Amino acid sequence: MKLLLRTPSLVHAAHCENVLRAAGIQAEVRNTWLAGAAGDIPLQESAPQVWILDDSTEADAWAVLNAAANPRPGPHWQCRHCGEWHEAQFAACWRCGQPQDQAAG
Ligand SMILES: [Zn+2]
Repeated sequence: MKLLLRTPSLVHAAHCENVLRAAGIQAEVRNTWLAGAAGDIPLQESAPQVWILDDSTEADAWAVLNAAANPRPGPHWQCRHCGEWHEAQFAACWRCGQPQDQAAG
């Protein structure tokens, strides 16, 4: 388990979790239960947290989040290897790992 990021926004935390899971990275949001009891707890400690279950996926997790935050315009593309459809900002198939350049065309 590794703490990936803190965010004051539960919506943002849930969004990050969804993006990571869609990319095949196991993630979960923590601290959501503190929202109503944050009185004496410093904001930093009570803010929602996004954790990754496997420490080794941290670099991939940031790459996925950065890609999601800066979407590349372009058409969806389909993996030639497994047939999965992807948004333009994904450079490789999240299901089988096939790079887009070899998957498309
Ligand atoms: Zn694929």
